[in-house]
This record gives sequence, structure tokens and C-alpha cells, in this order.
Amino acid sequence: MEDAHSLKDFLDCYGPSLAKRVNDELEVIHDPLNDEAGDMDGILDNLNKRPFPVQKEVIKGVVKSFKSGNRSVYITAEMGSGKTLMGIASALLLKKRPRVLIMCPPHLVRKWIKEIRETFSISKIFNLNGKHCLSILEGLRSPKPGTLPEFYVIGRERAKTSFQWRPAVTKRRSENYCPKCGGLLLDKDGVPLPVFEKNTQGKYKKKYECLNMITKWVWDPETNTHKSIQRKCGEQLWQPDTDNHKYRKYMPAMFIKNKLRNFFDVLIADEIHQYRNLSGQGFAFGILSSVCKYTLGLTGTLMGGYAMDLFYLIYRTHPEVMLGDDNQWNNPTGFMNKYGVLERVTIISEEDGLTVKSKKRTIVKAKPGVSPLLMGKMLLSNSVFLRLSDMSENLPEYEEEVIELKMNNQQGEAYKSFEDDMKQALREALAVGDNSLLGSYLNALLSYPDRIYQGVTVYHPRTHALVAFGPSISDEMPKERELLQIIDTEISNGRKVLVYIQNSNTTDISPRLVKMIAGKGYRVKVLRSGDTERRSEKIDKWVSNGLDVMICNPRLVETGLDLLSFPAIVFYQCGYSTYTLRQASRRSWRITQKDPVKVYYLTYSETMQTRAMKLIATKLEISLALEGELTDKGLSALSESSDSMTRELARALLEQISFSGSLKDMWAAYRKKEVQVNCNVYDTKPVELKEGELPVNVEKMSVEAEQIGDKVVKVSFIEYVGRRKKVTRIEVKESELDQMIKESDGPITLQLAMF
Ligand SMILES: [Zn+2]
Repeated sequence: MEDAHSLKDFLDCYGPSLAKRVNDELEVIHDPLNDEAGDMDGILDNLNKRPFPVQKEVIKGVVKSFKSGNRSVYITAEMGSGKTLMGIASALLLKKRPRVLIMCPPHLVRKWIKEIRETFSISKIFNLNGKHCLSILEGLRSPKPGTLPEFYVIGRERAKTSFQWRPAVTKRRSENYCPKCGGLLLDKDGVPLPVFEKNTQGKYKKKYECLNMITKWVWDPETNTHKSIQRKCGEQLWQPDTDNHKYRKYMPAMFIKNKLRNFFDVLIADEIHQYRNLSGQGFAFGILSSVCKYTLGLTGTLMGGYAMDLFYLIYRTHPEVMLGDDNQWNNPTGFMNKYGVLERVTIISEEDGLTVKSKKRTIVKAKPGVSPLLMGKMLLSNSVFLRLSDMSENLPEYEEEVIELKMNNQQGEAYKSFEDDMKQALREALAVGDNSLLGSYLNALLSYPDRIYQGVTVYHPRTHALVAFGPSISDEMPKERELLQIIDTEISNGRKVLVYIQNSNTTDISPRLVKMIAGKGYRVKVLRSGDTERRSEKIDKWVSNGLDVMICNPRLVETGLDLLSFPAIVFYQCGYSTYTLRQASRRSWRITQKDPVKVYYLTYSETMQTRAMKLIATKLEISLALEGELTDKGLSALSESSDSMTRELARALLEQISFSGSLKDMWAAYRKKEVQVNCNVYDTKPVELKEGELPVNVEKMSVEAEQIGDKVVKVSFIEYVGRRKKVTRIEVKESELDQMIKESDGPITLQLAMF
């Protein structure tokens, strides 16, 4: 014990014996290493789309868990590990002709339908996401005996959508009165209730109820008389909007609950973590889960770092477990007390210093952190965990290149003076802790180098005072030249290119990029937000019509979409969200991808862009070190703290913090950490590499390689003549496994077991 100083030391020290103890003592429902192959293997091998060996074990574990009496199971698997296929296959193994209800994000409805067709073509598939949803459901009330597996796919928005509503009050002299008690409608501070207030989409903002206190006569058994009491009127001040043409009588989830109870054998809830709160879709999910025999939840991230993220979710899937553990539905704080981290801040404010009686106020805030007890009590017996690295042999090679470009002198000077102007504004925004201001200033700084052809003027959003002016310079920019070179190389190798930009309405640079790329004769398209459901279909159509380059904001493709057609991805603008960057960089690195994947990050050196990349690398490395893996959970918690990202970036600029080390070192450190975590090996061994000839117009080049577990991480750093371009290339390759097995004296462990 004396030599374990940190958690990592402790784990390094005692990890193996602890793991052995767990292995020996834990009873598992499915043990891939020992359990015989059964009839399930036969069925799985007959699917049109065969699962990979690791996926098969997960599917078998899920089905055995259901058969052992578990009503709901979660598959927590990293993106790209084939959750959809595992979900479909599990349902097909559960029953000969199952009726499966799939609830998924709206832009994935068509992907699910396509995947079902590809996995098991002799099945009936119904799209419940259209306006005929209710009539299709109505038709199921007198079901014919099932002859084939039936899949019903509904978007989460559609499932929860019920009738449109509008305010219901009595108007007199432009004042609003309660239609029931006739009282004037005021809030607790005596301000008129804003019942007709609308949100940005023009929809009525909030359903109100009457707060007036009214006299009520109640029977008093003690005095055997009626007595008057004061009670809140509580009349609802809204009604169904029957005039609206979109009026809809029934919430599909409620219809299924009332009319189709136990009709569906399995509910598959995709991205189940999105049903973790008291929202309409969470409510709809809870209803559906309660009237389907089994519930299978698919997610890449079960919890976003807070215990609270699991409270409503587990209550909806495993109410008996929650009640058994004495957690009341209306007492989430009690649950947080047990399994989460709560911060209690007591503020004692002395009014005027004269009175001894001081006012005390306690604020309770939920903080990131989950007790491991929760894992043991609630999750281990109900979940399967799968990491992409568990399937690394089925994954194509993945390579990243971070390209730092120097702006030409004129651009550099313009940027420098723009940055100096912004500094003052950032200092003020930081001082008042105004994050929205910080965010918009930072975006201007990040995007000016890429929009220098049109110039940028920044005004204070509220005072409209001029904050900074970045003049326009019309020459071709180094990044544009670099992008065209990358596209030339990739297209000439028959690989389509996906280009990410951070475009919002005001900062959209895509028209210029489209003109430039199309000018070279390539077919290029820009994916815009809008019709989510048809997004993947639209992309497929473009690709089948010979598209070469697609440009889009990474947020549009951050969840669920497989972009296999684009093995080359270029971050033309990287932004500063770790979550989006990580998700978007792996959109085409999936087990079904056949081509090696290459991701390019373009950034201008000595600008806010490079600072942001360095900060992202640091954050990702920390998250890996802390969480022992890079689940979306750590990422989303990181990005959730985007306020902290903006503050850190602003501070970095103002205090000239240069984030110790070059971008090359920081990015390489993050990638190495990732391989260490995936291989579960922390010792690294340097690998000798023969020095090669310096390629033409390269001033300096260094290549270093390290063996980590069964992988070799090769980091090449190339500095081009005139130092106008620096490239950090990181390649992760399989090393000669059997060679390694011969060398290593211990057994090689495969990390997969079903709890
Ligand atoms: Zn009232």
C-alpha cells in the first residue's frame, strides 16, 4: 500500500488482482470464452448482414438477459460499433416473428428502415413517422396473426407530439381574467401572467394555470359543519387549438398505451440517453416502455457525468429496481444524495449590518460525478458495454494530420491588429462574466482568418458600439490552397472528401469554397440544416449522382449518420467543441468502412485557431486520463462546459498563456493516451525507425514511433521550406501481434465479458 500514491498507481499496482477477483466472483449471464455456441449462432449466421464475432457475443448476452427475466437492457457502445444491427438482431432472436417498435431521432428513421431491410429483408417495415401514423396504429387494433417479423419505426418527436394548444382566458379591457374564477391573472409578484408570450418559433411559450386564491367550502367532520378555506384556483389557462390545421387528436405514445398495450414485443430506444429528463419525449418513452414486453436501449453515452442523468431513465426502464432501492419518483434529490455529487452553497447576507438576524440562503447544485455504487447496483446487471477498440481488427486504418499554416504577411498583420482590438473587448466581457459576449467575440476571432476576403466588423450586441474591425484582403489564402491540394490528392485516389466548416448565417464561407472547388471541376454540395429525416437520403442521392466533395457544419452530422462514402475528412474550421470535433472526426471510421480513414485539421499558426486546437487536445487527453475512455459522456460533459472553453480561450489570449508545448506534441500526446486507454496498456516502448531521405521542399522532418500494446503509434512532424507549413501526422497501426505474443511472457487478454 505504501507505494500507491495516486489512483493510477493503485490501479497499476492492484488492478490485475482486483480484475481476477471480479472475474472469479462475478456470476455472468453470458461468458463468450466458455459458453457453447447454440442455436442463436445459427440464426445470426442466416441474417443478410452478419454481425462481427464481438457483436454476436453482445447480442447473445442481451437475449440471455431478457430470457433470464430482465425487462430492459442497455447496450452502451461507442459510435460506429454497429448498435443498430445489434438491436435488430437481438429483437429477431427474442421471438420468431417479433413485433418491434423502434423510437429514434427523426433524422435516423430512414437509416433504421434501410438497416432493417439490409439485415433481414423478409420482414415487414412500417414508417410511423409520417402523418399517417395514427391511422396505421388504428389499423393494428384488429391485428392479423403475424406471418413475418414486423418493425415499426417512429421518430421521438412524432411519438410525443399531441394536440396543438393555445391560451384560454377571458379578455376584458385588454386584461386577462380566469375563465373559471373570474380573477385577474397575475403571477406571485402581482405582474400580469404572460399567457400569450411566444417562443422564437412563434409557438406559445408556456401553459399557465390560474394562481388566484379562491374560497372553497369544505366539510369539517370535527365540527360537523362546512367551513371556508382558501385554495388555489388552478384552472388551466390553455385549450386544444382546434382551429390549427395541424391539430392532432392523439399522442401516438398515448394511443399505443391505451389501445395497443402489449401489442409490441420489443421497444428499441435509439440514443436512449435523450430520454433522461422530464421532457415530452422522456414522458413518451416512459409510456411506451411500460406497455412493451421488452425494452432495449441503445446509446453511446449512458450518463453525461451526472448521477441525475440516470434517475428518470432507470425509473422508466427498471421501476422495480428503483423502488427496491427506496428511491421515490418525486425525490430525485434523495437519489443524488446517495449516488451523485451535490454542492451546497450557503449564502449569509447581512441586510444592513444593524440587525443580528442575518438572512441565510442555501443553494444546492448538482456537480459532475457518479458513485461507483450506482454502477454495481443498477447498471452492471442491466447493461452491456462495448468499445470500438474491442473490434479494432474489424476497423480500417485511421490517420490524422494536423496542418498548421502561416498566413502571408498582409494577412498576418491584419489579423494581429484585429486580435489586439478584440483583446480589450474580451477583457471587459470576462470581467463581467458575460459568456454570450465572450462566445460571439471568440467566434469572430476564430473565423476572421477564414473570412478575411470579406473582412469582419464586430459590434457590441447590446450597445451596438464598434468593437473591432478586420479589413478585407482578397488574395487566395494558404488554407484555401491547402484544401484544394488535399482534395486533388484524395479525389485522384478515388476517395470523396467531407469538408467541415463552422458556418452560421452570418459567417457562412461555403459560397466561396463551393466556387473555388467547383472551379476545379469537382462536384460539390453544401449540406444545410432543415429536413432531418431526409438528410441521410439526400446525402446518399448526392453520392450516387457522383458527388466529389460535401461541405457542412459538423453539428449536422454529429449523431447517428454513417458517412462511409467520405473516407477523407477535412476540418477546414475546427471550432472549439470537443464533443462535436470528436464525433464528427469519426463519422466515417466505422466497422463497415472498407477504406482507410484520413482526417485533416487545418489551422493558422499563432492565431486563436491553434490555441483552440491545443485546448481541445488537452481536454481530450485529460478526459481520457480521468475516465479511462473517451465516451461521449466525458466529451459531452467537456463540451457542456463550453462556457469554460470560451473563458479559457479568452484568458489564454489575454494572459498570453501558450499552453505548454507545440500543437504537434499536444495532439500526439492525446492520441497516444487514447491508444494506451484502448489497449489498456500504459507502458510504451520506443520503436527504431530507419531515417528516410528528406522529401523535396521539406526543411525539417522528425519521425518517432512507440509500441503501445498491440499497436504502433507513429508521429511524423514535417516542416516545409520557409516554415509556412507544419504537418503533424499521426498513424496508429496494428503491430505484428503474433511476433508480440511470442515476445511477451503473459497471456494476451481480450476485454469483453457479459455481466
Ligand atoms: Zn381562476
